[in-house]
Amino acid sequence: MQEKIIGIMGAMPEETAGVVTLLKNRKETSTGMRTYYEGEINGIKSVVVFSRWGKVAAATTATVLINQFKVTEIIFCGVAGALAPDLKVGDIVVGKQFIQHDMDSRPILKQYELPFIKKTFIECRIEQLERATKAVEQLLDPENLHNSFLPEELAAFQITNPKMRVGDIASGDQFFANTEQKEALLHHLPTISCVEMEGAAVAQVCYEYDIPLTVIRTISDSADEQSPLDFPSFLKKIASQYSMRIIENIYQNQ
Ligand code: SAH
Repeated sequence: MQEKIIGIMGAMPEETAGVVTLLKNRKETSTGMRTYYEGEINGIKSVVVFSRWGKVAAATTATVLINQFKVTEIIFCGVAGALAPDLKVGDIVVGKQFIQHDMDSRPILKQYELPFIKKTFIECRIEQLERATKAVEQLLDPENLHNSFLPEELAAFQITNPKMRVGDIASGDQFFANTEQKEALLHHLPTISCVEMEGAAVAQVCYEYDIPLTVIRTISDSADEQSPLDFPSFLKKIASQYSMRIIENIYQNQ
């Protein structure tokens, strides 16, 4: 049987920095303007990489993880803008289905259909979904959360009682920062929980190579002009810690 090797991706350096520190016997390889950190977490071979933003960056990085580093599954941890009205900064979405909101080959194919794949949504496998929800529930358990973060760190971002949502994720090469853009997407795709720029691209690659993918996204903003958030500080203080703890929990539950 093929050896298990887990690829862990993030689209911002802050999203992967904490996870890199979990690697034992760490080794670095640079190729195609990315640095791949190999090592072991809880005795399982792992490769961590910062993919950069956007669908092309994420898809090429995922392909290198699969072909060069021989990963047998991928976990993507990052941040995203909320589309569902009840999602707040600090909440976490575990991706159930992934769609590329900017894929449009009409009139040849229907809107959002992936050419030759004949699907609009790609689904997360049940085993990955269950493992991810368990890991996120552990992180957000009030006792654990208050052991991992200082009250003032959470208060700075008005995080009081963060929740988990298992929901659909839309990806595309656009940063969402206005209400009109957000409303238009929700109108066409009402089941979407959050919007980001990589998940569905990695989902397509994983689908084509038949390997499991998990996408976990922390809400960093409300995908509109009203986001009063200090983005870099949120990434450093909250999102990077979330990613690291979720990965630790996933590995503990293997
Ligand atoms: N404001 C940030 C920009 C980062 S946005 C900064 O100053 O650094 C780009 C990354 O965040 C992408 O990886 C994307 O997946 C994710 N993301 C977070 N919020 C998003 C939104 N509202 N729209 C699209 N992508 C978002």
